[in-house]
Amino acid sequence: MNIEEPKNRGKVYLVGAGPGRPDLITVRGAELLKTADCIICDKLANPALLSYARSDAEIIHVPKRIGSGSCKQEEINRLLIEKASGGKIVVRLKGGDPCIFGRGAEEAKILADAGIDFEIVPGITAAVAAAEYTGIMLTDRNYSSQVVFVTGHEAEGKKDTNIDWRLLAKFPGSIVFYMGMGGLRFITDQLIKNGMDKNTPAAVIANATFPTQRIGKAPVSLIADKCRQENLEPPAIVVIGDAADSNTTLNWFMKKPLFGKSIVVTRDRRGNADFAARIIQQGGNPVEFEAIEIKPLTQTNQFLQALTKIPDYDWIILTSANGVAIFFDSLRNLAKDARVFASAKIAAIGTQTANRLNQFGIRPDFVPGIFTGKELGSQLIGHTNLKGKKILLLRSQLASNELVDILQQAGARVDNVPIYTAVTTKSDCAWLTEKISSGAIDWLTFTSPSCVRAFVDQVPPDLVNAGNVKVASIGPVTSEQLKELGVKIDVQAAEHTIDGLLSTIEDSEKPKT
Ligand code: SAH
Repeated sequence: MNIEEPKNRGKVYLVGAGPGRPDLITVRGAELLKTADCIICDKLANPALLSYARSDAEIIHVPKRIGSGSCKQEEINRLLIEKASGGKIVVRLKGGDPCIFGRGAEEAKILADAGIDFEIVPGITAAVAAAEYTGIMLTDRNYSSQVVFVTGHEAEGKKDTNIDWRLLAKFPGSIVFYMGMGGLRFITDQLIKNGMDKNTPAAVIANATFPTQRIGKAPVSLIADKCRQENLEPPAIVVIGDAADSNTTLNWFMKKPLFGKSIVVTRDRRGNADFAARIIQQGGNPVEFEAIEIKPLTQTNQFLQALTKIPDYDWIILTSANGVAIFFDSLRNLAKDARVFASAKIAAIGTQTANRLNQFGIRPDFVPGIFTGKELGSQLIGHTNLKGKKILLLRSQLASNELVDILQQAGARVDNVPIYTAVTTKSDCAWLTEKISSGAIDWLTFTSPSCVRAFVDQVPPDLVNAGNVKVASIGPVTSEQLKELGVKIDVQAAEHTIDGLLSTIEDSEKPKT
């Protein structure tokens, strides 16, 4: 038989990345990013989405604006066909929705003509996101029963434009311009020249859905001046019509407690990502500075021996979420699981440590009300008689001896076994010092003494003390280290957790009455 094997043709997914904020991609879009062999990514798509990509995925960045010449677009078309014909699963990641002014239509046509299988995954388009993230309601049964999306790109003097200015000037609904900033004055002039009332409300929303989102509002005749005065820059959406005169009480996003605040996080990469997500949740703008790297010490004889003796201990104490993660990583590598704890009781410092333990099916027997080593020690003594009890401390090599001393004084036999350490990540920090000196940073946050040491190693305390930047510390031990190294502290978290730190910052940002 001479049956030709079907050629393994790949497939292209034209995926909408959403308007900016990474969690505004669709579930389908995120799933496809996880499986793609090749991702061809527009500049407008948030690069944070690439964290979904397989580590061996090929990632190709292509420019945001293709410009008037079609040569770049031809290059992209060629890439799509080449990769898919080679049998690859290609995700073509495009800002917003792939087919709303995104040339997705052209790409789909090219693929169809080349006989390449493709799918389109819709995304949240910028107009809808910008409006909803500022409380502008594009449709409302009282004033707007229709919406029109218009490209402003054609406005910049293009002769064979498809834009019907007379129609738009009389449009009884919301008019939304994409790519309208370059030609904003031309756009508003055309509308007014063609009969639009010059007092028609207009709004410009830049960087929609990001913590750096900004909005400018003015009548249509003045909106271009307003944007110039306030330095509103692309990417921005322009809304014209009664919808633009929105009720500011509906601007829920920009009312978030930390909206617009730039907050530096100074932990390890994983810790920073975790902290950054919470800052974004509160409307803030996280600035990630990886001050330290966490290095597991789970290959040491001391740790491996302790592990074999775990059932002999009465109490095991874990003092950080990092410690828990590293401990369970090492159990997994040794083909063991939580049963190593046997009947030993477990104490944890902080809700985050307890939550991480919960993820592994462990409910700690004791979590002190105040999240410091010192409190854990003294409250545990109040909770149970430690005389003659065997305690295993699994924590950072850099932790102070205070907890050990307290437990020993209560008559316990303590094995203090380091399971990780933190080393300074030396990186180029000129960008950060520049931001601090120029006043672009509102807060510096510190969550452990090792973060403080690593930070001060790279950024001089004088710079911090001299500027307007405020310093927030997670708790007394971290504050002590800051003081010792000469860094002024503005606030110390009431509850010594990341969430506690954020709510203390929020309190301090509240207008004083
Ligand atoms: N396909 C995209 C639009 C691409 S055209 C979508 O569906 O959203 C690029 C234009 O989109 C920009 O010039 C700007 O007008 C708008 N835009 C994209 N992201 C934006 C954002 N985060 N904030 C405001 N406007 C944005």
